[in-house]
Amino acid sequence: MRDMLILGGGTAGTIMANKLASALDEHEWRVTVVDGTEGHYYQPGFLFVPFGIYRMRDIVKPRRQYLPGRINFILSGIDRIDVEKKTVQLANGEPLRYDCLIIATGTDIHPEQIEGLADEEWGQSKFDFYTPTGAEKLGQFLKGWQGGKLVVSIAEMPIKCPVAPLEFLFLADEYFTRRGIRDKVDLHLVTPLSGAFTKPTCNRVLGDFLVRKGITVTPDFDIARVDNQEKKIVAWDETEVSYDLLVSVPTNMGDPCIGRSGLGNELNFVPTNKQTLQADGLEDVFVLGDATNLPTSKAGSVAHFQSEILFENIMEHIEGRPATAHFDGHANCFIESGFGKGLLIDFNYETEPLPGEFPLPGIGPFKLLGESRINHYGKMMFRWVYWNLLLRGVKMPMKAEMSMAGKRMQA
Ligand SMILES: Cc1cc2nc3c(=O)[nH]c(=O)nc-3n(C[C@H](O)[C@H](O)[C@H](O)COP(=O)(O)OP(=O)(O)OC[C@H]3O[C@@H](n4cnc5c(N)ncnc54)[C@H](O)[C@@H]3O)c2cc1C
Repeated sequence: MRDMLILGGGTAGTIMANKLASALDEHEWRVTVVDGTEGHYYQPGFLFVPFGIYRMRDIVKPRRQYLPGRINFILSGIDRIDVEKKTVQLANGEPLRYDCLIIATGTDIHPEQIEGLADEEWGQSKFDFYTPTGAEKLGQFLKGWQGGKLVVSIAEMPIKCPVAPLEFLFLADEYFTRRGIRDKVDLHLVTPLSGAFTKPTCNRVLGDFLVRKGITVTPDFDIARVDNQEKKIVAWDETEVSYDLLVSVPTNMGDPCIGRSGLGNELNFVPTNKQTLQADGLEDVFVLGDATNLPTSKAGSVAHFQSEILFENIMEHIEGRPATAHFDGHANCFIESGFGKGLLIDFNYETEPLPGEFPLPGIGPFKLLGESRINHYGKMMFRWVYWNLLLRGVKMPMKAEMSMAGKRMQA
């Protein structure tokens, strides 16, 4: 019996386990998934919890429910990977051997990386919305908040779902308008980027949205510390932004087990071949989803597109052939823009998000880089697609490679 071992049973690990379990001969391959927690969260839902649109129970399901039948699920922390011995040590010291390893341990926030952020005021006047606890606490706080200066601060890139901080601000604009106190709330985005997003056309479009909604942007801000006494964030160049309510997107890092195993970069992301998804220099190890160091978005859509490519490459690998399927960096994301509307972006390593229609040229129904009600419905429908199709590894009509159909070039 050979062992296909998948570390992490989140979006990427679950999709991959289901795909492989239905393709590999069960008398020849054992497919095992290891994850440290029982609950699988639909993370895009965290965005809606602070505004009371979703409750936490709407976005969590038992992880085992999505790892059925012949998949061997081990509920345990992962201590470290030993690539020499081809084993993984669990938190209780027990070793697991592998013939082929897939690392899908994702990324998490690390507020302790910013001086003064993770102190006693964390969860009082400083919050995150990237974790279940953070999103819930922020929701409780917002209900009673009567206004002031709300600063969304991005610590450093990369972060998962790089548009989520913007979506948070768009939804905050709607939320305070509905509560009748928008005139009492000052909304700010403070970012290390030179604008709203990483790519120029999208940056322009989203930047215009922020201006139209009266949201101030402070770009090129590399946060060094939080001054809790004065309630301000301070950059390395000593520029400052004051706040009444700080919503932080702290440093995102790969799991510490990657660092302990000596497999990560300075942020514990695994150096990965950007096309084949093989871990650099490690023949039997592949990396999927947020755990990679790849220059594309850290997003569930990326985990999905990558899983199609990785599936091909793993099938080739176990037959002793070189990996020939190439990931092109394809990412797409609905961007909630508030008041029942949204945008959609679709891009890859080479092509920035462009305007147009998706997936059918001239028809849509989704509008690329433009606002529409259908895009908002697409975003809200996605939760159903996630639980019922995506996680189960069902082949979707959308191709893993980005298509230029429907996209209009910009001058
Ligand atoms: C607020 C927010 C909004 C988002 N919006 C979108 C969106 O609109 N569209 C989109 O495509 N994506 C969105 N995302 C991003 C998306 O959720 C992630 O990119 C996706 O979940 C990545 O999948 P993954 O499997 O790589 O990581 P995860 O799904 O995070 O899974 C990693 C798993 O590994 C396990 N693990 C890690 N280390 C260990 C260890 N040492 N021991 C045991 N288990 C371990 C964890 O428990 C976890 O279950 C959003 C994310 C957030 C936070």
